[in-house]
Amino acid sequence: MLLQGPGGDAVAQETLDLMRLHGVPPSSANYEVWLSYRLGRNPALREAIDASIASGETFTPQVNAALHERFFTGLGASAQIMMAGEQIARDLGQVVSFLKQTEQKSGDYGRTLESAATDLNQTLAPEQIRQVVQSLAAATLDMATHNQQLNQQLQRSSREIDTLRTSLESVRLESLTDSLTGLSNRRMFDETLRMRLEEAKAQRTELCLLLCDIDHFKRFNDTWGHHTGDQILRFLASALQAHARPDFLVARYGGEEFAVVMPRVTPRLAAQTAETLRAAIQAKRLRRRSTNEDLGQVTVSVGVARLQPGDTVQGLIERADACLYASKRNGRNQVTTDATPVLYVA
Ligand code: GH3
Ligand code: MG
Ligand code: MG
Repeated sequence: MLLQGPGGDAVAQETLDLMRLHGVPPSSANYEVWLSYRLGRNPALREAIDASIASGETFTPQVNAALHERFFTGLGASAQIMMAGEQIARDLGQVVSFLKQTEQKSGDYGRTLESAATDLNQTLAPEQIRQVVQSLAAATLDMATHNQQLNQQLQRSSREIDTLRTSLESVRLESLTDSLTGLSNRRMFDETLRMRLEEAKAQRTELCLLLCDIDHFKRFNDTWGHHTGDQILRFLASALQAHARPDFLVARYGGEEFAVVMPRVTPRLAAQTAETLRAAIQAKRLRRRSTNEDLGQVTVSVGVARLQPGDTVQGLIERADACLYASKRNGRNQVTTDATPVLYVA
């Protein structure tokens, strides 16, 4: 079941088009893989598919199954990191033993060269010269072969280290992302807000914080089920993202609460953004795709606070939260800012 969220149809269609273009049958497992590719949420998956496309590889049932296994049912990124780490440890062990052999071999090679030089200083018969040259050639070939092997080994280790770096990056992203909505999670929000607050104080720039909470969401869940509730959360996430500037951070703050960190934004613009967002959410007619049932309206209550001199992160959040609750108290489906006078009236 899907909602007709903004762009939802188009993304589904584009995913199917991509699959058709690359000869991938429309099974649900393949759709899962290619939707993720289309959304670009998993850099490792994107890289793997781009590499297959670039190399002209055919998406055979085996290749498709391996992609699904690797990114959806197979090992998680942490297990992949552990395995990559073990592989690197083995590779480095090999490199060390190669280097020991190199030391031994270059000693031998040096002695071969020295004895050849001594021999060639004497008057030698042509047959003896031939033998000296032959032993030099053999020793040089041996050394070259060894160096080549060492080189290959080093290249392999370097590839393994690249894999590990990519896996680490995807684990880092995962740990800062909310898996339901794809937005930043609370941890990322906390870190970003702290950083933005310090920046705003140091540079004497504006900083606004928007908190938003879905109205009567419990009722919505009770009526339509948790699964449809989850789709609403995704719809909200994309609506928030659509109204955010690239330097804003949109995060899932809690269950059905979202936050937007707005650096270098005047309170007036922050309030306008909040109002546009609120109106856009209210205006959306949501339908259940499977049954075409009208899900009615979803509305949100919003609070916007502006950073004040001497503010802490906690202070700013509390003020935005107080504004949000003023919106709830005053009837929901509205925006309150900390410049709204009515906030301080009982
Ligand atoms: P209010 O207008 O006062 O905010 O009312 P409300 O019903 O939205 O508020 P309340 O805090 O009573 O309920 C929040 C609901 O959000 C309860 C919970 O079931 C729902 N919720 C929280 N997280 C999730 C989630 O991840 N998925 C779904 N489907 N529902 C969630
Ligand atoms: Mg709530
Ligand atoms: Mg709520």
